[in-house]
Amino acid sequence: MAYHGAELQVEDVRLSQLAAEHGTPLFVYSKASMLAALAAYQRGFAGRHAQICYAMKANSSLGVLQVFAAAGCGFDIVSGGELERVLAAGGDAAKIIFSGVGKTRGEMRLALQAGIGCFNVESEAELDVLSQVAESLALRAPVSIRVNPNVDPKTHPYISTGLKDNKFGVAHEDTLRIYQYAASLRGLRVVGIDCHIGSQITDVTPYLDAMDRVLDLVTSIEASGIPLAHIDFGGGLGINYNNDTPPAADVLWAQLLRKLDERGFGQKKLMIEPGRSLIGNAGVCVTEVIYVKPGEHKNFCIIDAAMNDLPRPAMYQAFHAIVPLRTGHSDTPEARYDVVGPICESGDWIGRDRMLAVKAGDQLAVLSAGAYCMSMSSNYNTRGRAVELLVDGAKVHVIRERESAADQMRLERLVAL
Ligand SMILES: *Cc1c(COP(=O)(O)O)cnc(C)c1O
Repeated sequence: MAYHGAELQVEDVRLSQLAAEHGTPLFVYSKASMLAALAAYQRGFAGRHAQICYAMKANSSLGVLQVFAAAGCGFDIVSGGELERVLAAGGDAAKIIFSGVGKTRGEMRLALQAGIGCFNVESEAELDVLSQVAESLALRAPVSIRVNPNVDPKTHPYISTGLKDNKFGVAHEDTLRIYQYAASLRGLRVVGIDCHIGSQITDVTPYLDAMDRVLDLVTSIEASGIPLAHIDFGGGLGINYNNDTPPAADVLWAQLLRKLDERGFGQKKLMIEPGRSLIGNAGVCVTEVIYVKPGEHKNFCIIDAAMNDLPRPAMYQAFHAIVPLRTGHSDTPEARYDVVGPICESGDWIGRDRMLAVKAGDQLAVLSAGAYCMSMSSNYNTRGRAVELLVDGAKVHVIRERESAADQMRLERLVAL
């Protein structure tokens, strides 16, 4: 993603060209950027027994899943719907891990019948239910237990998951007892241990602390006679949205693997569940300025993308850079704007206090929009979901068509009044 002359391009394609052909709002993903992000992890794990499971809730579009499946990724899923997506995209069921605090019996049944690799179980109640469901199918469910290492990932509270008051995982002090319980259930086969401490983590320290806590548990669980075939360290590595400086995946893992080796666990199979760091910076949302609305205290730049397309600012006060598709052409003076969507909510903002030289009809790119945008999108205000394109060099693949009002109404029924 770079300017070539005045034009912003994704790989070999001008975004202005894509906007002209497909309309806006429009998501564009770079395949090369996705594979480069994955390659950083693959380099980090070279020579190790490791499985990268893309946490697909970050972006679950089929075309995105296909790219990662073809590159050898497994998938971290959190629902039966996500399981169906992986299978539809040609993913390997044996490389699926199933996370989440609220798996239903129906979802467990689907996943067992598909033959997934591991259930990451988050409570004793879930162990009981999973064991029953597996026994009813004459199967044994492969399980890890998600432990809560009680470390602060220093990220937004809504995306911290490894503190003891979060709903996720089982408490450190209960872990050994719960493993012994799991090992006693006839429908289960204990295969690993799992943790995931949060998202958009930009510091190495919480990972090192969590690893220490998890390895302490591995030691005590194995000493009690329950062997663990793999250790899953979750996802959560941050990306650069706004002068963020997360470590590169290979640099982070060089440090983590050193600790793993020092503590004598270098031979264990490793699993990781990265989401945002594989797709976040590979995507942009292209949008058009509908109106510029000057105000007494604030100027508004009203664009055709909104919180239904880009929910992160409204949900987490998140920052996305907003840049013009073409630079230098404008004779419009620069001014300070709140960049907002058309939705009837004051929370519908995409960027605040941005210096932009814009007029109606100009096009902008909202950057780092590959993760937790389309997958969190909604139809609020009966707005159809945007088009998604995957760019591969000079080739452009439509991976999602624009959703019409008819698409949205398809499952609704008029009543006989
Ligand atoms: C969301 C999630 C991930 C991925 O987090 P990222 O920050 O996108 O890397 C991994 N594992 C679990 C259990 C998750 O809920």
